[in-house]
Amino acid sequence: MTDDKKWHADTIQVRSGLNRSENNETSEALFMTSGFVYDSAEQAAASFEGTTDNFIYSRYGNPTMQMAEQRLAAIEGAEACRVCSTGMAAIFSSMACQLQAGDRVVASQALFGACHAILTKILPRWGIQTELIDGTDILQWQATLATPAKLVFLESPSNPVLQLVDIAAVAELAHKAGAKLIVDNVFATPVLQSPLALGADIVTYSTTKHLDGQGRLLGGAVLGSKAFIEDIFQPFYRQTGASMSAFNAWMLVKSMETLRLRVEAMSATAGQLADKLASHPAIESISYPGHASHPQFELAQKQMKGFGSLIAFQVNGGRQAAFKTLNSLKLIDISNNLGDAKSLACHPASTTHSNLSPEDRAALSITEGHIRLSVGLEHTSDLWQDLSQALDLATSD
Ligand SMILES: *Cc1c(COP(=O)(O)O)cnc(C)c1O
Repeated sequence: MTDDKKWHADTIQVRSGLNRSENNETSEALFMTSGFVYDSAEQAAASFEGTTDNFIYSRYGNPTMQMAEQRLAAIEGAEACRVCSTGMAAIFSSMACQLQAGDRVVASQALFGACHAILTKILPRWGIQTELIDGTDILQWQATLATPAKLVFLESPSNPVLQLVDIAAVAELAHKAGAKLIVDNVFATPVLQSPLALGADIVTYSTTKHLDGQGRLLGGAVLGSKAFIEDIFQPFYRQTGASMSAFNAWMLVKSMETLRLRVEAMSATAGQLADKLASHPAIESISYPGHASHPQFELAQKQMKGFGSLIAFQVNGGRQAAFKTLNSLKLIDISNNLGDAKSLACHPASTTHSNLSPEDRAALSITEGHIRLSVGLEHTSDLWQDLSQALDLATSD
């Protein structure tokens, strides 16, 4: 295989992981096979002993999955990667592979709804102690990580209101507490933020979002050191079945070829829309890490290379005005998905974060007037025309 260490990011996302079959196809091949055959019974036995590196069964690994894994690892700058059936399979497996009863996990409270449920409902059932804190407050991290922990988990920027956590500072505190740091990097993407370079140990993705970027597949990924992926993650993954289908891995490997182009274009449009939204009279506040009004604007400049395609904004008039805004959109679709080429908007309090109690939503600053907008690849003018007419209508009476 080629030496992708010396390549620039653009070359890596098109070429890394490419593993041509004996047919020398141009485009990455789809190996739609559950199993693999052996030359001899001895080779089969050696494969199960782990002394060979041939493929055994697609639950453990497959050539198309491996191309996606090597490409994503090269993009991220990680030693190793495994692709999973969903983002949640990736996140849950990255925790479950290394936790046991009696362990302590500390996490930022601003999390994707299903991650919040894993930490508050599922892990505690198995005797794992979990503590959620305000991730924007470094003093809370210091106080909580004064006691040893096994894992620290955070999301930055967070879903849905784009709060940031100082990844480098938390990595240092986590390591002093004896913990590994897992960062859910979905909102930033590998293009705009590199948690491993900031000190994190493990990075997780929902590849359903920008990595596919075309709203087609469900998928996830776990990245980290070779030692973590091969010795700790792989044995758990192989036995518990979180793997990605070869078909989804094939779509993913092709999508990654255009990842930077898509993410940079979407982020540029999001930056322009954030400015326009901030000065619209129907808007109470906006939350965009690249906008000067963001309380952690300085941290965003320090740890991100760009500010992403998601904007949260609060319309005056609570749920009624937020619903009316969504219902008045003609181009932007109402959907809880994100990172798609098509711009999508949703009302987090009644959808993605409706499983949280009103108190938990308040602690996360998610209000009834909040709309989360995932900016796609449409032209900025068309998107602004749609947003401004919807906001005008929603607040006209
Ligand atoms: C979507 C998402 C997930 C879950 O991913 P799935 O692919 O839907 O399982 C986890 N974290 C964040 C931040 C997400 O946006």
